[in-house]
Amino acid sequence: MNNSSFYYKDSELYCEDVPVSKIAEEVGTPFYCYSATHLEDRFKAYDSTFGSRSHLVCFAVKSNSNLAVLNLLGQLGAGADIVSGGELFRAIQAGIPPERIVYSGVGKTEAEMAYAIQQGILMFNVESMDELHLIEQTAGLLGKKAGISIRVNPDVDANTHPYISTGLKKNKFGLSMSRAMEAYKAAAASEWLNVTGVSFHIGSQILETGPFLHAFSKVTRLIEDLEGSGINLACLDLGGGLGITYHEEDAPEPDDYVSAILEKAGDLGQTIVIEPGRSICGNAGILVTKLLYTKSNSLKNFYIVDAAMNDLGRPSLYNAFHAIQPVSQKDEEARIKADVVGPICETGDFLARDRDLPVMSQGDLMAVMSAGAYGFTMSSNYNSRPRVAEVMVKDNRFETVRERETYPDLIRGEKIPDWMEPGS
Ligand SMILES: *Cc1c(COP(=O)(O)O)cnc(C)c1O
Repeated sequence: MNNSSFYYKDSELYCEDVPVSKIAEEVGTPFYCYSATHLEDRFKAYDSTFGSRSHLVCFAVKSNSNLAVLNLLGQLGAGADIVSGGELFRAIQAGIPPERIVYSGVGKTEAEMAYAIQQGILMFNVESMDELHLIEQTAGLLGKKAGISIRVNPDVDANTHPYISTGLKKNKFGLSMSRAMEAYKAAAASEWLNVTGVSFHIGSQILETGPFLHAFSKVTRLIEDLEGSGINLACLDLGGGLGITYHEEDAPEPDDYVSAILEKAGDLGQTIVIEPGRSICGNAGILVTKLLYTKSNSLKNFYIVDAAMNDLGRPSLYNAFHAIQPVSQKDEEARIKADVVGPICETGDFLARDRDLPVMSQGDLMAVMSAGAYGFTMSSNYNSRPRVAEVMVKDNRFETVRERETYPDLIRGEKIPDWMEPGS
């Protein structure tokens, strides 16, 4: 793994200058551990490559929405790409200015739109004609203009997992190029809409720059057509989706990606917006878990750990690979092939399958690597498991940035109706 924020010193896994075992002692397991320096470095790799070119890096909040993460990136100049009212609330609580927020997603509700218009976000990335009309109506009712960009579906294949491919005609996202023109004309005619940009997002965990550039070219043609019709856009939003190394993937670096875009952008006048998520936070985080039990049958060895699919869903959901490393390396080299599984009552509850791992014993700690993106944010309370703690490390300091949930947290808001009382 190409990551200098998590490394071994004297056989102990460190995050920055802090031994991971020390954090485990203090906060218990499981927990997510994030490196602030790694987050900063990845953001800056994007941001600085743009140089003086007008740009905005909107961090995709759905990849990691912890307030401390958002605040850290916001302080460096990041905006936010949000997909719900809840994410807007988080971004604002974290101090990200609304004029740096773009709102994506196919199913925005009227209440969410009103909230975003009142806050004064930069733009809605509009995914359908129905949505465009509702934004216009909502803006009219509030008497406040709404910025919009049409999310086009460029129909390019991003060569990624079918569940996270979004830029093909058969996907639910965006409007076709031909419908987009119609949408722009309707928007330009409205007194309540500010035609601000055009956007696309072709998928996630994309490992080559080709598909981005291909989509970019298609959208450039649309921009020219729009200019021909007197519609000028301020922003060109290329979405997110750059991949990272989980295992042996050869992922493009953010600066290479931005350089390729800049080359293509030539003398386009638009502010370039990008919406990276995974490529900023994915390798900035690990999930630390403890080995509860080992067992074997004639077919398999199992490491039963205290983290489960509700804490990190990617292996079960996408059959995703996460490297697993011991927090304390042992001297002997003995290895074993094992499934790393959680306590949840589902066969799909695994973090790794048939993985070559060191022989470990009860109580040993393991780090599930590359877990900073779509880890905690996809976690749930399934099996009534309190969601785990999140910890931020910077140099030799660490702090819990989200407390482990308690049992009372699990039943917050629930009630037993009076009329269920016997005899009522
Ligand atoms: C999920 C998503 C992103 C972020 O994708 P990553 O693969 O994490 O970079 C950006 N934009 C939109 C519209 C998204 O849905």
